[in-house]
Amino acid sequence: MDNNNIAPNTSVPDYITNMQQYNYVRISKYFMLYEFEDPLTHLVILHPRLLLAATQLRITLKDKFTIIAAYKDPKAETTEGSYSHDAHAAGLAIDVIHKDIDKETFKLVAEGSGFNSIVDYSEYIHLEVALKVPTGVKTNA
Ligand SMILES: [Zn+2]
Repeated sequence: MDNNNIAPNTSVPDYITNMQQYNYVRISKYFMLYEFEDPLTHLVILHPRLLLAATQLRITLKDKFTIIAAYKDPKAETTEGSYSHDAHAAGLAIDVIHKDIDKETFKLVAEGSGFNSIVDYSEYIHLEVALKVPTGVKTNA
């Protein structure tokens, strides 16, 4: 077999070369994987509980919010310092901006969608799920 006879890159269809290369993968009806990646390293850790809560939020609010940050790679160099102990580094948090809905209503819907911690940073809202279900909370599991 002739191993040198490898197809050139020019055979890749335009729709693939033109789209974002990393994590251009649909992970649910509502989200692409790249929405949760670190924008610098393209690495991603996504806890299923975060995807579930984000999905519930999307079902309720449709396009009334946008994820502006999700996984933050602890190894990525940023001016904000290390994320090693951050919920973002554990795949448990997203930062979002909302539109066409008032902030208090948005926070209530986020809480009802399964986010355990909601922090208002005024320019954006930090939404975080707990790694473990708090005691006293009933689940269907
Ligand atoms: Zn955050």
